[in-house]
Amino acid sequence: MIFDGIHSGLAVLTCFRCGKEHNPAEVNNTCTKCGGTLLARYDIQKVANTFTKSSLKKRVKSLWRYTELLPLQDERKLVSLGEGLTPILNLKELGREVGISLLMIKDDGILPTGTFKARGQAVAVSRAKELGLKELCVPSAGNAGAAMAAYAARGHLAAHVFLPEDSPMANQIECSNYGAILHLVRGTIADAASEMRKEMLSHEWFDMSTLREPYRVEGKKTMGLEMAEQLDFNLPDVVIYPVGGGTGLIGMWKAFDELEELGLIGSGRPKMVAVQSSGCDPIVKAFQNRKDAAEEFKNPSTVASGLRVPSPFSSELILEVIRRSSGTAVSVSDDEIILEMKKLMKEGISACPEGAATLAGLRRLVDKNWIEKEESVLLYNTGTALKYMHLLGS
Ligand SMILES: *Cc1c(COP(=O)(O)O)cnc(C)c1O
Ligand SMILES: [Zn+2]
Repeated sequence: MIFDGIHSGLAVLTCFRCGKEHNPAEVNNTCTKCGGTLLARYDIQKVANTFTKSSLKKRVKSLWRYTELLPLQDERKLVSLGEGLTPILNLKELGREVGISLLMIKDDGILPTGTFKARGQAVAVSRAKELGLKELCVPSAGNAGAAMAAYAARGHLAAHVFLPEDSPMANQIECSNYGAILHLVRGTIADAASEMRKEMLSHEWFDMSTLREPYRVEGKKTMGLEMAEQLDFNLPDVVIYPVGGGTGLIGMWKAFDELEELGLIGSGRPKMVAVQSSGCDPIVKAFQNRKDAAEEFKNPSTVASGLRVPSPFSSELILEVIRRSSGTAVSVSDDEIILEMKKLMKEGISACPEGAATLAGLRRLVDKNWIEKEESVLLYNTGTALKYMHLLGS
């Protein structure tokens, strides 16, 4: 029993833009008034009764240990592949090489389906099942689709995944073998999304797109919850994260806010750094030009397929997190990314190109003296290198 004596504190879904409240017992996508992303709000008083440092010590070794701050009400609806509690490892040699005294990496490459997308889909698919949904659809650059397909298989739900036709072969093979219906679309994730919207007109599918569905970000939030718990509630000075659609960054920030409301951490926050590939860096451009929202990036191309998101929905939220944290945004080249994948392997870490991009970003920031030697830095590795062997050679 995971939910023995502890319960979800989910209270309401609130539009991040206009504040309109939505009933979480109903099926929701975006705000019915303005189309904005809906974010889950919890009854913090109630959560605080059971969500304590000592109670956490005794819980299940998966992300479901954070039950009170997750949306699932009924344990019988849980769709799980054993996700969560990934290690934080010290990178001693690379730290020395870069000139940082405490360099860490949180390695989500060991999650089911090999990427952190499992966190979001475990929670969102479970909640979809709880709400009685039967047929799910998602546009994806690859890994979100693969993770949704795996959890849908596990939970006996039907899945439609729309991928760019040049998405990594591993992702395409995963989707179809997990039993999803794979729709290959010419172009990027944005084109896959428009194709999906056309199909949705004649089907009763539930849209699981990034930030157009309220619960994937709740799953991603566990990155921040875990980080805090594993570091004894002393957050690192800097967190470097590869931004595509941005749910990871938004999720971690939401975790920190909720932990502060619960009195488990203070008001201090890591500086949140968004790394993108120069082949698709709409967030970096918007950040540098002091825009509130990103503009579409034309003709995106990068080996870091998870970062090929030319117009992230809710880019306002991503930019707000970066600014509120006194963070920054940097672009790195594909050549640097591949080099850093190899560097990380020399220290035993299997990092996807997106994860390796964080190390390239770190070097940039150290060169610019934006990060100082004494600051603790955590790189977020979002996935395994195994899906991207074609980039590495022998
Ligand atoms: C999707 C993806 C990202 C980007 O994640 P967001 O949280 O949507 O910004 C990074 N790395 C990998 C491996 C991905 O699949
Ligand atoms: Zn709204």
